[in-house]
Amino acid sequence: MKEIKLDLKQIFEKEKQPFFKAEYEIEPKDLGIPADVGEITEPIKVEVNIVKNPKGEGYKVSYNIKGGIELTCSRCLEVFKKDLGGEHTVIAQRGGENREHLRESDLNTFQLEGDVLNLTDLVREQIILDVPYKPLCHPECKGIEGHPVEFEREEKPSEGENSGSPFAELKKFLNR
Ligand SMILES: [Zn+2]
Repeated sequence: MKEIKLDLKQIFEKEKQPFFKAEYEIEPKDLGIPADVGEITEPIKVEVNIVKNPKGEGYKVSYNIKGGIELTCSRCLEVFKKDLGGEHTVIAQRGGENREHLRESDLNTFQLEGDVLNLTDLVREQIILDVPYKPLCHPECKGIEGHPVEFEREEKPSEGENSGSPFAELKKFLNR
């Protein structure tokens, strides 16, 4: 498993300015997402923007994930693709540091390994956080026959047929 590790000390010794921007691609096999979470079939693209804390230790790391994950719907058991796209920000700092001076708003923190940011770890954690405990292919997924599911039915006018009847649901399923 190959992980992308950014030595921030080295990067900022080379950079003339206190920020650093780059784009990376992480192979599914390097992310190693557990099979019971979902399956990533294409490389995940990550755009990283790192700003060094001008007042001391630590870095502000913004990253934009582009990619998707295949999940199994917890109701109908169909496999569907969920977009993982999104922008996130964490404060990266060494473990055991005094965190008080970096308590900027309520940003999450991510622990550096010395001066090294393990980008693969950061993205892996974010993806696992982004996957719902009970994924749904569609918010109104009707489930499958023989596997009764309980979920709150939204009270809104039905389109056309009487969607309140269990037979209507069965009919929809059979017509697919
Ligand atoms: Zn479903």
